[in-house]
Amino acid sequence: MIGYMYDSDFSFHDTGEHIENRLRTESIDEMVQEKYEVLHIPTRVGDKDELSAIHDFGYVDWVESGYDNGIRMIASSDTILSEESYEVALKAATSTKNVIDAFKDAVIKRAFLNLRPPGHHAEIITGQGFCIFNNIAMMARYAQDVGYQKVLIIDFDVHHGNGTQDIFYEESSVFYFSTHEKNNYPYFIGEEDETGRGEGEGFNKNIAYKDEIEDEDFLALFDELPRDFNFDIVLVSAGYDLMNDEYISSAQISFDGLAKMIQKILKFTGDKPIAFLLEGGYNIDSLVQSVDVTLEQMVAN
Ligand SMILES: [Zn+2]
Repeated sequence: MIGYMYDSDFSFHDTGEHIENRLRTESIDEMVQEKYEVLHIPTRVGDKDELSAIHDFGYVDWVESGYDNGIRMIASSDTILSEESYEVALKAATSTKNVIDAFKDAVIKRAFLNLRPPGHHAEIITGQGFCIFNNIAMMARYAQDVGYQKVLIIDFDVHHGNGTQDIFYEESSVFYFSTHEKNNYPYFIGEEDETGRGEGEGFNKNIAYKDEIEDEDFLALFDELPRDFNFDIVLVSAGYDLMNDEYISSAQISFDGLAKMIQKILKFTGDKPIAFLLEGGYNIDSLVQSVDVTLEQMVAN
């Protein structure tokens, strides 16, 4: 059975009419409840100290007291801080640990985490790009704490996961592999010559693709997954903003192309544990169908 994480509290990160809003996770959850038999993995209220594994504590403090201090936006102007955003973001990031525990206890081998706010743009010292804390980085760190020494992160969101790259750039035990649109946010980062630093040299791979990419060219990129990195677990930044009907990219990936990409990732993962964490995807119909396609492949393959 597939593990699944969702909490209606995620809706309390109140972004109003912003494209990253509560309808995303709520609509996905409706579909999952209707169509799939899943093992519900509970969330947890983590401690803020846990975030020091991935973020500068000054930043965490700043977010915690931000709303009371009148702050309504993190970074430039794209990441909303509502009254309960801090608690929700803390819960989303730290709850990922429960999925790792479920893997460890051999209860499940595959999981989908229907989380918000998303996380992959959140760097060590700041959130941005609709992201407050870096969920997948938190999960990777905890995986290592409990014995999954080598972590492969695959990020297929149409945007480069600058935050995840930032956190693991000098480490050789976490391999960050990202495919993303070249001429798109976060800009000036995510270049192919960013391959890691120091001990981390060779453990960061960026593939920046051209505008209007279609299935065939996109699928070929996944032939470059690192075959000689002997990973113990795979974590996927599953951003569905690369789909044809999405608003903030020119990529033209079809549902059939998405299914084939998921198959490729699952095949590459073999019998190791794998978790998909929701990142982008803003056209609700396209997003729900994309997650459906992902779950179908996770069940069937
Ligand atoms: Zn994105």
